[in-house]
Parts: sequence; C-alpha cells; structure tokens
Amino acid sequence: MSGVFDFQLSPYVYPFVKNNNVLLLNTKDMNAMIFNEEEHVAAFMRELLSPSSFGVIRVDTSTEQYKHCKHFIDKVCKLGNGLFTEVRAGSGIVPVLNPYLLKIRTPAPGAERGTNITLVLNHECFHNCSHCTDYARQFTSCTKRNSHAVMNPELVRSLLNYYNSSDHFSIDICGGDLALHPRLDEIVDILSPVEGICRYHIHYRQFKNNINRLPEQAGKIIIVDFPVADSSCFENPQKYTYNFVVSKKEDLTLCRDYVMTHSIPNFYISIMDAGRSNGFMKESIFLLQDGLECSLGSFSFKDKVRIINSHYFHKTFIMPNGDVYSSAKGGPVANLYHDAYLHVKEFVQNMHTQSWEAARNREGNSNVCTDCLFYEMCPGWW
Ligand code: SF4
Repeated sequence: MSGVFDFQLSPYVYPFVKNNNVLLLNTKDMNAMIFNEEEHVAAFMRELLSPSSFGVIRVDTSTEQYKHCKHFIDKVCKLGNGLFTEVRAGSGIVPVLNPYLLKIRTPAPGAERGTNITLVLNHECFHNCSHCTDYARQFTSCTKRNSHAVMNPELVRSLLNYYNSSDHFSIDICGGDLALHPRLDEIVDILSPVEGICRYHIHYRQFKNNINRLPEQAGKIIIVDFPVADSSCFENPQKYTYNFVVSKKEDLTLCRDYVMTHSIPNFYISIMDAGRSNGFMKESIFLLQDGLECSLGSFSFKDKVRIINSHYFHKTFIMPNGDVYSSAKGGPVANLYHDAYLHVKEFVQNMHTQSWEAARNREGNSNVCTDCLFYEMCPGWW
C-alpha cells in the first residue's frame, strides 16, 4: 500500500496519551487497545490530538513516520477504531469533530468551581449578528440588549475587595460593545492588577474599536463566527485566543482554513445550536450518547444541548445593573447594589453545588445521570 492517506479515530474512541504510552478506549464495546513504550506511536497520537490537526493526520506512506506507526494504524483500523483513507494528492483535509475533540478544545476553567465570574459591563452594540442572543446563552460572549445600563466602576472595585491574591478566581468580561461603555478605561485600570485572571471577550466586528483600549497583558478572546467579513483581527494572532463559533460542517472547514492560513496558535471551538443544523450537531457531538442509548438519548435535542453545555456550571453572571444570575433559566438571584457580595457568593456557590449533586446523585429520584455509561468519566468532572 503506497500513497497519501488521512488517518482519523472513530468518533466513539477515547484516546489517552501519557509519556510513551497510548490507550484507546472503544466506548461502543468497551475494549481497550494499549501501546506501551511506543515513542513514535505516542508522538503520532499527540500530533493527532493537537488542536491544529482537527482530528486528522495526513500520512505519506513513504515517510519514516508511517514506517514507525504502520503496525499501530493497521491494528486500529482492523478493530474498527479508526480510518485510514487514501486521498488524492493536493486535496484538502476534511476536519472532524466529535465529543472528545470538542472537549480537549474547550478552554480550562481557569479557576476553581464557583469562583468564575462573568461581568457584563454594558448592553449596547451597533452591530447586528444574527445569533447575538443565542451566543451568550451557549458560551461566554458579548450580547446586546435593549438597555442603556452600564456597570459602575465602583461595583467592580468593591467586588475585587472580596478576593485576595491567594484566592483562585477568574473574571470574564463582556459587553455589549465594551468600547461604548463611558467609563471603560476606569474599569480596565481597576482590573489591571488582576489581569492574569481577566479575560476580555470581544466579537471580531468590535475588534478595531476595542483592541487598543484593552491592556496589552490581559487575556483577550476574539469571537469569530462565519462568514468572516473583516480579517483585521487575524493580524498578530499570537496575542489573542480565538473562539471560533461553529454551527455547521462548513464552518469547521472554514475554521481550519483560518487557523492554517494565519498560523493561529491559540483557539477553541464553541458549538452553536443555531436551530438549523441538528444533523451536524447530532453526528458530531451527540453521537456517543445516541449510540450507547444512555439516558441522555431519551432527552429532547434542546435538553441535550442544555445538559451537555457546561457554560452555566459553577459560574456567576453579574449584569450592568448589578443583577446576579447563576443560570440562563429564571430571574436574578440577587442584586449587588442591594445585597452584600459575600452572601451572594455563598448563595450562588451553594446553589451550584446542590444542583450538581442532585443531577449526579445515584440515590436521588430526579437525577439525570444514573444510567449513563459515562458516569465515571463524565466531562463535568474534568
Ligand atoms: S458584536 Fe456581539 S453584541 Fe454586537 S451584535 Fe454581534 S454578538 Fe451581539
């Protein structure tokens, strides 16, 4: 067999690589393949799992890499754990997405549970992204609302007083369009001493107006949806982390093109349920659950999105008017202009812990996880 081939794992295979050892767990039949002390195989798998591979490695069978890994590739394919497909020279790689690949691309929380705060500084924005409202419900994003409320810098200052340098916490900062906040510079100054754990989230359409207003050292997440109308946010990509919003198969290919063309080192993918592409989401994200008929399989599609999307787990959202939310459902649980933050913090934390435990508790009557085959390896514990 000679030529150029694309290698990918089957979507129901969970890979683990540690030092020079590789474990592939087939979650369909629960059989495992183990390759111990296989330096080349481990390097091959690391390459496959690096975000920029998009789940596919192109292999030329005349290379040393293939010679070293042929036994691995053959065995994986023979047991139905992967595909090795011949491709025409020059044809593009078709990226793949599955629950595991999505999970490894999801950014680390950056703080212990319960201490992740999202500050929404304002609601105004002059752009008109078609899924604006949905974005903020599904991942950390700007979103506009019909309100001129803006966050008072003093509220930010007093919030920080409740934390000291030994606390583990992180702050995500979103608008509206942050540049439209009349006192943005003051808030940036207040947050600057804690900038190691501050991340500003701006949409690429807001890039030009915002980027010079934000501190050089602070984390900046650029939200990119498709099609991209202005590429200026891709200059100096090493300075930013990109959050690519993918709602259909074609978006994934575009995402890979941008990553390759601009040599983007840091990015992650947010899956967006735009209500028009259930096929893609079902195939790419929920395939495991359906295939195994775990309890999630019997939930409606909308509920699966809600359950699997961890956007709201253990987070506190503070709106410009001081309202505090702990989830997308229901109203505010407190208001920081009226309630002491310490009480609010404790209350929200307890609420998250209780709901999480209720969902996970084997003894409970209304839990959603009991029959799930992934109980012990649930991404919620990662
Ligand atoms: S840039 Fe952000 S806030 Fe403005 S419309 Fe788009 S998603 Fe909404």
